[in-house]
Amino acid sequence: MKNLSILAACLAIFGCNQTDSTSVRSNKNVIWPVIQSQVIKDESVENKVKALLDTMTLEQKIAQMIQPEIRDISIEDMRKYGFGSYLNGGGAFPSGNKYSTPQEWVDYAQQMYKASVDDSLDGSKIPTMWGTDAVHGHNNVIGATLFPHNIGLGAANNPALIKDIATATATEVMATGIDWVFAPTVAAVRDDRWGRTYEGYSEDPEIIKAYASAIVEGLQGKPGVDFMDDSHVISTVKHFIGDGGTKDGIDQGNNMVGEQELFDIHAQGYVGGLTAGAQSVMASFNRWQGAKIHGSKYLINDVLKEKMGFDGFVVGDWNGHGQVRGCSNESCPAAINAGLDIFMAPTHTWKALYENTIKQVKEGDIPLSRIDDAVSRILRVKFRAGLFDKPSPADRKYAGKTEYIGHEKHRKIAEKAVRESLVLLKNNDSTLPISANQRILVVGDGADNIGKQSGGWSISWQGTNNTNDDFPGGTSIYDGIDVVVKKAGGSIVLSVDGKYEEKPDVVIAVYGEEPYAEGQGDVKTLAYNPLNTKELKMLQGFKQQGIPVVSVFISGRPMWVNPYLNASDAFVAAWLPGSEGKAVADVLFKRSPQNDFKGRLSFSWPATPDQIVNRHDKDYSPLFPYGYGLTYEDDIQIKQLSERHTLVIDGPQAEALFDGKLVAPWILSLMDEMRQIPVNSSSVELGRLSYRTIDKIVQEDAFKLSNQGNTLAGLWFNNKDNGYGVSGDNRMVELIVRREALLPESVMLALNCDDIKQCRHAVALANQVNALPVNTWGSVQYSLSCFNQLVASHSKLKSLGVISSSKMSLDISAIRMTIKEPASTECN
Ligand code: BGC
Ligand code: BGC
Repeated sequence: MKNLSILAACLAIFGCNQTDSTSVRSNKNVIWPVIQSQVIKDESVENKVKALLDTMTLEQKIAQMIQPEIRDISIEDMRKYGFGSYLNGGGAFPSGNKYSTPQEWVDYAQQMYKASVDDSLDGSKIPTMWGTDAVHGHNNVIGATLFPHNIGLGAANNPALIKDIATATATEVMATGIDWVFAPTVAAVRDDRWGRTYEGYSEDPEIIKAYASAIVEGLQGKPGVDFMDDSHVISTVKHFIGDGGTKDGIDQGNNMVGEQELFDIHAQGYVGGLTAGAQSVMASFNRWQGAKIHGSKYLINDVLKEKMGFDGFVVGDWNGHGQVRGCSNESCPAAINAGLDIFMAPTHTWKALYENTIKQVKEGDIPLSRIDDAVSRILRVKFRAGLFDKPSPADRKYAGKTEYIGHEKHRKIAEKAVRESLVLLKNNDSTLPISANQRILVVGDGADNIGKQSGGWSISWQGTNNTNDDFPGGTSIYDGIDVVVKKAGGSIVLSVDGKYEEKPDVVIAVYGEEPYAEGQGDVKTLAYNPLNTKELKMLQGFKQQGIPVVSVFISGRPMWVNPYLNASDAFVAAWLPGSEGKAVADVLFKRSPQNDFKGRLSFSWPATPDQIVNRHDKDYSPLFPYGYGLTYEDDIQIKQLSERHTLVIDGPQAEALFDGKLVAPWILSLMDEMRQIPVNSSSVELGRLSYRTIDKIVQEDAFKLSNQGNTLAGLWFNNKDNGYGVSGDNRMVELIVRREALLPESVMLALNCDDIKQCRHAVALANQVNALPVNTWGSVQYSLSCFNQLVASHSKLKSLGVISSSKMSLDISAIRMTIKEPASTECN
């Protein structure tokens, strides 16, 4: 009786989830509760789905299940095949132009849409939908509001604010004609060495579950109220499942937890998100107990769809199907049979995948009933989202309305989020709040650097190669401090390296991690910057002179920063605040009584570089526990912390220019006899020379350099600082390369030391490269003694180029200088 009345009360109030309290028992069926989605199955939608499905050919059905990427399809492909959806990956823009205007985004959406409903070629009229990674605001678009990354939002612990962020994001996304957002990420991050730690709200399911509902509601609208109306977009809860729990925090790695823990820790975001009515789920790259999720019928079909009752569609992740045993990017019946509904199929391989999948259905490797189920799910979501009724993208409410991109109202929400996400770790002697009417010195390379404070997934995928000008309307942390100090009549100096003429009253140091995304952000230990002590020495120098130091630390994860905490009187974890950096100053200076620190750690802060620690662990002993965060009311002194650690820190034995990614301070450009253009996206062309990122182990950890021939042009690494400084005998350059065919003799490796004209020399790459087997990665090494005397003896290298004048193609994943003696170094 009691249960019945609870159920009745539950049904009366939207959002109740009666399974919560009954979830945990020992048998498998009980681990996974039925989720009561607020989006209820609607007879009329089901009838429309069925009627439409009955008219479709096999080819049209498979086209609904293939999602190509904008760098690898044309409008004509859309017209010919009628894809159900398409995406732009991180750092992919219409026409490859980073500076495309909102109107150009809409024009592209419009053309794709029109092509999809033009039945002249494929015979179908089903509107396509465009998906994008708007993971902290509409982050691929110049001028968009970039909200703090999820790790900072977790610290804010404010679901209502999260909903506002999601609503604002939906508006900006729609201003560019896009229908669908690949967010929220609901990973419970258990090992902060993972490169995607900052995409997670917390290490603990509590906040994740509440946030997942809030963000889904903000993006899609509330069922029964404003669900999928003209102000909302489809959302995707990702990455199903266990992405945050892989061994050693390795991206796309193996999660070994038991099933109960998989539910208790890693599934709570799905409970929250699916209850709120999320219409899609993205399968994860990772394995669970050894098997890739993309091929797991148990998890996708049995658990998610059958037990939890999810009736939307499951989209794959970036060629994730290709990682299933027995599959390739071009073929993977196992993933479809496991319950995947849409292949995310970037790269040119979509075509073979489309053809192979059709063939596999015809040959009986994939049952037609599975295809019909997948397509029904896709159509169901399209009907629910009103795609058949809404006007074409260019005629929708926000389309092309540039004023919504980076709208003042959205920036205000972001500022609030920035203020609430700051966590005060240390505030000895009430160093904070700072009084503005003083002499203030702002130092550190994060102070006036909107790209750095925004992190990965900001204009570009990795968040690199951006300048402050790429964030029009945004502000750096320094910008905010500047306004406050000047207004109060104080004086302010910005000095990245800490040099000053007049002794300041207080130093604000803004520093931290360089941007990264996904696997490229995986690290081996949590020690911040162990090899580079320049910043630390700068802070210690101020301390020695009795100048109080306030550190504002930018990072995508908690890090071991004991030496930095010791060198600072106050220390603020600012995470990745995004484009509204100026709001940091509101709290540092306590501009109004309510501007106190509100952030509380949603991640435990490590006591040693190798401590992997989470709330509720046995013997829990972090430096700062989950939930920690000081306020201006607290009078707590943080004592000198141990700086001892067991890290093996060698001097720079090798310096990489490129190692899976470009290493600062090297910058990359393409150059020919007349022009130089920066390499600032994943695909850049200069005449007939082209650079395009490729995947070696993780995405975009290598690149292909090709020359279509007959132009002298090269790819150049230039050192922004004083030049590469490792000195010593036996220095050499090593490249990790792969060739598709014989490399012509004319391809050269060139080194320049500095402005002395003769200090440059080049050697041919062909001999060593051609000695490597075709299509196989290998190392080629050139001692500096292979180059002329000046280059060989010079201790500072300024630039390195790979130049060619004839048709060639070479893949490169690393270039480094080392002082190790190679086994045998040939000069050519
Ligand atoms: C692409 C990005 C994409 C990312 C996804 C990269 O290879 O260039 O656009 O978002 O992979 O992991
Ligand atoms: C990421 C996803 C993202 C997709 C599309 C993948 O590599 O794991 O989070 O949605 O790329 O860019």
